[in-house]
Amino acid sequence: MRKPVIAGNWKMHKTAEEAVSFAAELKQADLPGEVEAVICAPFLALPALVEELTGTGIGVGAQNVHFEQQGAFTGEVSVPMLKAAGVTYVIIGHSERRAYFAETDETVNKKVKAALNGGLIPIVCVGETLEERENDQTKEVVRKQVKAASAGLSSDEMKKTIIAYEPVWAIGTGKASTAEDAEEVCSFIRKTVADQFDQQVANEVRIQYGGSVKPENIDSFIKQPNIDGALVGGASLNAGSFIQLVQAA
Ligand code: PGA
Repeated sequence: MRKPVIAGNWKMHKTAEEAVSFAAELKQADLPGEVEAVICAPFLALPALVEELTGTGIGVGAQNVHFEQQGAFTGEVSVPMLKAAGVTYVIIGHSERRAYFAETDETVNKKVKAALNGGLIPIVCVGETLEERENDQTKEVVRKQVKAASAGLSSDEMKKTIIAYEPVWAIGTGKASTAEDAEEVCSFIRKTVADQFDQQVANEVRIQYGGSVKPENIDSFIKQPNIDGALVGGASLNAGSFIQLVQAA
């Protein structure tokens, strides 16, 4: 009943021109309609991707956004700007943004609200560091992040929101979580949503796993009952591998 979402997070990779040739490969592939495929690209590649992918069923997302509509925020991009460019999704609170760009639970919550208000679908990232995992704090950390990110949302808004569980130690390391561990945390996230909203909202919200997902291990994650897709960094940069991920889901 929950449609799986495979989202590529290109991070700081690819020019507009490179994005266009990636899109050309995607358009030739036979992608299953039961999977939502999304490419989250650098801002400068978004208009070209929107142009290439409109009408294909493949969504386009940004990797960050500011929570204000406009104003004196040098270097930032707002929700209405993304919306006007035809963008549909936005990653919010990625661990790299939390670690290197002072993103906090509070700014994450503001951005999630701004995105939903402006008609974008937020993909909210949560996840523990290695130290937190070793100290047995995974659930505590994840619960705090989920609750903070979704504070003040209506049930309808929460249902539209996608949560990506990304243990920090698994990102870009080649050391993915085991599917069983990821399932345990994703199921805990669903329970957290049920406690904060209700069971129906929890049943509808989509929860992805992210962290060293690749064509070779996607199956193990996707078959878990509480994992509804993946947020993929490195393995989304190659069109062939992204296509395999979408086909596997
Ligand atoms: P990775 O990155 O797939 O390269 O581990 C995932 C992410 O950061 O979203």
